[in-house]
Amino acid sequence: MSKSSHRDPLSDTQLRVKALESVLLEKGVVKQETLDAIIDNYENKVGPHIGASVVAKAWTDPDFKSRLLENASDTLAEMGLSGIEGTHVEVKENTAELHNMVVCTLCSCYPWTLLGLPPTWYKSTPYRARAVRDPRGILAEFGVKMSENVEVRVWDSNAEIRYLVLPIRPAGSEGLGEDELAELVTRDSMIGTAVVEMN
Ligand code: FE
Repeated sequence: MSKSSHRDPLSDTQLRVKALESVLLEKGVVKQETLDAIIDNYENKVGPHIGASVVAKAWTDPDFKSRLLENASDTLAEMGLSGIEGTHVEVKENTAELHNMVVCTLCSCYPWTLLGLPPTWYKSTPYRARAVRDPRGILAEFGVKMSENVEVRVWDSNAEIRYLVLPIRPAGSEGLGEDELAELVTRDSMIGTAVVEMN
């Protein structure tokens, strides 16, 4: 739960979470320390910087990239990137001919381990409904003008499979090292609603 000021009334979801939390604590199902560790993990440790470092490594290490595209789950597990919401991941590579975009039409499945918590728009009904029907329209709204020559492929996540887009390495980034490259990689570029650009 994110911190909110005392003036803000709690939302329905926050109230439900609080109620659930106190019942679980009261019944001894979970310990406060465990909850704190989980919250700390998603608020401070897990985030798009993890996916970005994976992308930067794939851009600079061809062997890693082929293993990642072949079997992302095992390759990420070797890096200690597995566990909740990241168990089965597939990486889809963008090329000059193909642009990949990720959605969860049913709910909001997302590779938490690599990207942290999903943005609100990812969970919204308009995105989920339109991503499949009109991916180019969605891309345009995100400011991405995709040429008609580029095929746009949409991947529908589910409880079993999560997707990460491997964006195209931007032109002009040849001299950059892995850490500098990782800084260019945005969350949205790994969902496929943005492309990576030089700063
Ligand atoms: Fe889902």
